[in-house]
Amino acid sequence: MSVDTDTDADEEPAGTEATAGDSDVVLEAEDLEVSYGKVTALRGLDVTVSEGEIVSLIGPNGAGKTTFCNTASGFLDYGGSVRYRGQEVARVGQTELVDRGMVHCTEQRDLFGYMDVEDNLGLGGYLRDDEVIEERKEFVYELFPRLDERREQNARSMSGGEQQMLAVGRALMGDPDLLILDEPTLGLAPVILQDIAEALAPIVERGVTVLLTEQNVTFALKHADRIYLLENGEAVREGTPDELKGDDYIRESYLGG
Ligand code: ATP
Repeated sequence: MSVDTDTDADEEPAGTEATAGDSDVVLEAEDLEVSYGKVTALRGLDVTVSEGEIVSLIGPNGAGKTTFCNTASGFLDYGGSVRYRGQEVARVGQTELVDRGMVHCTEQRDLFGYMDVEDNLGLGGYLRDDEVIEERKEFVYELFPRLDERREQNARSMSGGEQQMLAVGRALMGDPDLLILDEPTLGLAPVILQDIAEALAPIVERGVTVLLTEQNVTFALKHADRIYLLENGEAVREGTPDELKGDDYIRESYLGG
């Protein structure tokens, strides 16, 4: 993918970055800018995600949510800064980010359709030993009993909601430090939303920090600790769910008055 922004991080003198473990900040973007040719997708964005938090980026289509996820995961060039555990992601690189515990569950889910639940989960834990894989699978099956009942079922024959559970489950097999969930509730029925929602607390209890993008503002307000509202690539509001619920603009534009 071609983008026309330069990564300011490349110009930063060596040794100026915080080292991993210095603070409880897991992901931090400062003055982040991303463009696709002439289209600017993120402009001057500041976002902080601290350990143990569920932070949600909400906003309408085209607000820049997926762009933020892809930039944090090291897929896109950028201006400004985005650091994972104190290290500029452009320097760390995609593969190393995964090795260090950043796991990205994309909007498209990216499952292996002709493989069953067991094998999709097994691939999420690839390169771990059998005992670790089994322990993580048990955690996933406890979180999502519908997957447990469908261990032998091919991913492509599962419902959208079940596929979403499998995508989240497969991400968890990588034992994430930071789990990026890009619009996990998109197109799902309320009953499935509930299953996804109920999985969030045990995931955080396991020591995982969550960055969640959502168009479903009600879902984010219910389940996130802090929220950023993006519009046209800019954060136009930021705060706790209680703060945002009391905001007239949010109420009128996103909660139907
Ligand atoms: P949605 O909720 O619809 O997924 P989003 O908030 O995730 O939207 P992005 O997908 O990040 O928004 O898109 C932000 C802007 O960047 C949009 O204007 C979009 O058209 C543009 N954009 C995204 N990906 C590309 C690309 N590969 N090439 C060109 N423009 C892109």
